[in-house]
Order: sequence, then C-alpha cells, then structure tokens
Amino acid sequence: MSQTKTCGTCKETKPVSEFYRRGGGKPGYRYRCKACDKIARRKGQIATASNEHCGHSKQR
Ligand SMILES: [Zn+2]
Repeated sequence: MSQTKTCGTCKETKPVSEFYRRGGGKPGYRYRCKACDKIARRKGQIATASNEHCGHSKQR
C-alpha cells in the first residue's frame, strides 16, 4: 500500500516515496517531488528558503 501525492510543481501524481519528508514533529511531505526539488535546487530557489522564512517572521 503506497500513498500517492500530487506534486505542486509538475502536477504529477507520484508515490510519496518520490517526495522528501518534512523535518519537525508533524508528519508530512514537501509539496514538491524529488525530481522538481532537484531542479529547483539547481536554480538556487531552495538554498535560502529556510533562512528567508525566519527573517520574514521576525520582521515586525
Ligand atoms: Zn514534481
């Protein structure tokens, strides 16, 4: 029994094994599949994502 998930980038439905798991306590997967994650990482979209997140929430 394998769960499937639709990638938010390529819109393809793939088994969850094709998705990276999110860190932290909550179970869940990234909206982007491994293939798209690799592409995005190559473009440099992911590298600063977590830093950006922290920066924005502190900016009040
Ligand atoms: Zn994808």
